[in-house]
Amino acid sequence: MLAELQALVRLQSIDNQISRLKNELSKIPAQIEAEKKYLKEYEEDLETAQAAVEAMQKRQRDTEGEIQMADEKLRESRGKQPLVKTNEEYRALTQEIESFQGKIAEFEDQVLECMESVEPLREKVAETKKGLESANNTAGMVIKKHEDHQAGIEHELEKHQRERQRTWDEISSDWQARYKMVHKNMGGLAVAAIIDRTCQGCRMDETIQRFFEIRDSKDEISSCSNCGRIIYYKEAEAVGTVVPTDETA
Ligand SMILES: [Zn+2]
Repeated sequence: MLAELQALVRLQSIDNQISRLKNELSKIPAQIEAEKKYLKEYEEDLETAQAAVEAMQKRQRDTEGEIQMADEKLRESRGKQPLVKTNEEYRALTQEIESFQGKIAEFEDQVLECMESVEPLREKVAETKKGLESANNTAGMVIKKHEDHQAGIEHELEKHQRERQRTWDEISSDWQARYKMVHKNMGGLAVAAIIDRTCQGCRMDETIQRFFEIRDSKDEISSCSNCGRIIYYKEAEAVGTVVPTDETA
């Protein structure tokens, strides 16, 4: 095979690799983002659980404040007791005192309720924290794995880019231009094998005469009569079998 044709075949193969690697690379940010989103859900759960505890604690503090106020009023009323002069005043004051006592008892029940209710809420916070920690570890590892993968691909890409440049320089400017154009117009496949008369790029057959020309040419690079791709002769791997090729992949 002509050295220049060999370079074109190699160039196509390198470009296939580069395109595969770029495609793989383009998926990684979304994979990392998915992990971060998963973590964010845990963080939000924790915030919600903590807010519930705080709300319950505030309710308890508020109720304790109410008790204090009612208690002050109760003491005030009791202080007036020695000063009453009539039975009527005495009854009214007694009623007032009982009413404050009733309120205080009610508030105290509410404080107890708050204390009981806050326990399961605290447990929920502890549980969610644990979940977040373990999710952090897992996601951290997964993200690290993606980032390592990313770095590996970038490294490999650089290698291929350098090799591509070397190969590119082996090709004359006419064929460089031709490759560039066909590569762009033919879905990234500029160079295809011809096996058993069939162009592996477009799957069309050449005439037998043309096929022999392509196969036997020693000093010329051929193009497919149908799709215009640069073609090179490749032997079928087994007699009578059309070999499926991955050149188009
Ligand atoms: Zn073709």
